[in-house]
Parts: sequence; C-alpha cells; structure tokens
Amino acid sequence: MPVDAAVARAWVLAFADRVTAAKAELTALDSAIGDADHGANLDRGMAAVLGKLAGDTPGDVLKGVGRTLISTVGGASGPLYGTAFRDAAKALGDTAEASDAEFAAALRAGYDGVRRLGGAAEGDKTMLDAWAPALTALEGALDGGLAAAAARAAAAAEEGAAATVPMQARKGRASYLGPRSVGHRDPGATSTALLFAALAEAVRT
Ligand code: ADP
Ligand code: MG
Repeated sequence: MPVDAAVARAWVLAFADRVTAAKAELTALDSAIGDADHGANLDRGMAAVLGKLAGDTPGDVLKGVGRTLISTVGGASGPLYGTAFRDAAKALGDTAEASDAEFAAALRAGYDGVRRLGGAAEGDKTMLDAWAPALTALEGALDGGLAAAAARAAAAAEEGAAATVPMQARKGRASYLGPRSVGHRDPGATSTALLFAALAEAVRT
C-alpha cells in the first residue's frame, strides 16, 4: 500500500488519538521515573499538530508535524519525536506516493535522527527500545505488504516497551535515578508503541 499524504495524515491523527487516550497512563509512567509530564507534553504537541495538518505529499505532512513538535513540546520527547518526523520527511523528499520500501526507509531515517540527537543506544531504557524492534519487524515483514508489516511492527514495539521494565536508564531524566529506574516501564518507549499502533491502524486494509 503506497503512502500518500492522506495515509500520512491518518497515521498522525491516529497517533494523536492514542496519545490523548493514554495521556494519564504516560504521565503516571513518567511520574515513576521522571517528572510526570510525558503525557501532557505529547498531548499538547499533538493537539498543536492537529491544528495545522497540511501538505500535499507525505513528506510535507510529516515535515509540518516535526516542526510543530519541536517548537511546541518542552522536554526531551518533543525535539526527539520532532526530529524523527522531520528526518523521515526529509527521506521521503517530494514524492506524492511512497512505496512500502521507501516509507520503511523513511521511518529508519527518523529513528537514526533520534539516535543522533539523543545519543542513546538500544538497552538504555528510552524510546529507542520500542523503535528498534519495530523497525526490524517492519523491514523483515515488508514483502508481505505494509499493512501486515506495520501490524508486526506494532506488536514488536509493544514488546520492546514492555522489555524496558527491568532495564536501568542510561539516558534522559530517568538515568538520574540510577538503579532506582529499574522496575518501571519507560514512558517514551510506551508512546513509541502508540506511534506504531497508529501506523498499523492507518495502513490497515
Ligand atoms: P523529559 O524527560 O524532558 O521530561 P518527556 O517526559 O516528555 O521529557 O520524555 C521522556 C522520554 O523521552 C523518556 O521516557 C525516554 O523514552 C525519552 N528520552 C529521554 N532522553 C532520551 C534520549 N537521549 N534518547 C532517546 N529517548 C530519550
Ligand atoms: Mg518528563
């Protein structure tokens, strides 16, 4: 299923809905190992995004999302998610319809942007622990079509988020807690699982 501007918008809308629904949960997770603002941060950012969800190409749509998140969300997650969308948009260029492989490559570029900006690696108990398995699953299942691959990616992201519970945080605010960060699920990995669940919803056939 090629990804055009309408599919990109559907993805962003579905993500915004899921963030709103999970706002209290994300904030509760962040209150355990952070400063209790992750749900509010993302919900505010996505609300701003919905106010100006324009663009004729998927790249345009995602570029606007990235710019808005970077400028409206305080905290680590705004610039990180903003960079993910912006770098994905850059990879898409001005194509009107991205192929499954082009779209997967754009998501990979977004992930690389998060890694570059945040300097974290897998296992550091961050959103990367959901992104990385999701992308591996997506790429590995792409031959069966984007809808099936995105469903696999969503499941892998959720597993990745759950797997952050026993990890000790080595990046971000949670790392200040040292060993006391163990035993809690990472809020950012949890919101990244929502991002991939939203994608699966948007491309479901
Ligand atoms: P803040 O920590 O500034 O309050 P948020 O609460 O909105 O920002 O987001 C926290 C989430 O951001 C964490 O749960 C983690 O997943 C993610 N995060 C923090 N630092 C990094 C980093 N360097 N790289 C990747 N993700 C990070
Ligand atoms: Mg926080």
